[in-house]
Amino acid sequence: MSTYTKEQVKHLVEGKLDWDTTMRMLSMPKDRERFTQYLEVLQSKVDWPDRILLPLGPHLYIVQSAEDQRWIVKCDCGHAFCDHSDNWKLHANIYVRDTEEAMAEVYPNLMAPDTQWQVYREYYCPSCGVMHDIEAPTPWYPVIHDFEPDIETFYEQWLGLPVPAKAA
Ligand SMILES: [Zn+2]
Repeated sequence: MSTYTKEQVKHLVEGKLDWDTTMRMLSMPKDRERFTQYLEVLQSKVDWPDRILLPLGPHLYIVQSAEDQRWIVKCDCGHAFCDHSDNWKLHANIYVRDTEEAMAEVYPNLMAPDTQWQVYREYYCPSCGVMHDIEAPTPWYPVIHDFEPDIETFYEQWLGLPVPAKAA
């Protein structure tokens, strides 16, 4: 029996839940099974050999490189961003909407925020151009590093699976 809503599960698969909530959700054996199946589905959709360890978003994953077993952040087009402990956003193409006109182009239904206080930062894959994330920080706020998942603990304690090999 799971007490989580469909909406929460949807956020989980879209990578939009914070790490603590993800851990809590996966503490039910049935959810663990579901998550393992979900990883298999993701794996079947990409055409590179690296093993998906954890999705970070609809098109972004932490994978185990088939070449050298390093854990890296990878787009589903195959673009490798960086080591998994790095902030991939700093390796993305970043577009900052910091004028009312630029905001209105894509967010016409929003009450236009005052760009002195809030901007939109969009993070794109440099290879295929898919948007991986969007932030709405104050203009001077540093690029946000969402979370650094503890993959070892995740596999061992929550999924009950062997920890994937990792090259330093
Ligand atoms: Zn890409």
